[in-house]
Parts: sequence; C-alpha cells; structure tokens
Amino acid sequence: MGERAGRACSKCGALMDEGFILDNTYGARVQSEWVRGAPELSRLTGVKLKGKEHLPVTTFRCQACGYLESYTSTA
Ligand SMILES: [Zn+2]
Repeated sequence: MGERAGRACSKCGALMDEGFILDNTYGARVQSEWVRGAPELSRLTGVKLKGKEHLPVTTFRCQACGYLESYTSTA
C-alpha cells in the first residue's frame, strides 16, 4: 500500500506522473489541500480552517492525455 509509482490513467491507460496542485497565495507557494465541508469565508485568512479536517492533495497527471486525478492521504 502507498506505492503510487506506475499508476495508469483511468481514461486512456497511459502512465501518470505524481505531482501536486500549486496554490499561489500571499507570497507563499503551498500544496493544495482538501478540506471537509463548505468553505467559510474569513476576513483575516480568506477561508476558515479551524477545527476542520484538511489533507494535502496529491495529483497525478497522465503523460498522454493530460487527465488529472487527485488523492488525499489515507494514513
Ligand atoms: Zn490519459
């Protein structure tokens, strides 16, 4: 489990490369995260995260057709 190398595209079957979606924010570059529930806006931070489950998102990109498939850690 946890071995993600050699993942095949669910659309065309070609190999997919592991990566992540870059989130450019206020001078910082961070990995996108999945957050449970609907976004609650905050004047200070943009979106409230306090008390919410959030997980970094790993995204695979198909080398042939460009299809993106995203996963969160299940650990
Ligand atoms: Zn593909």
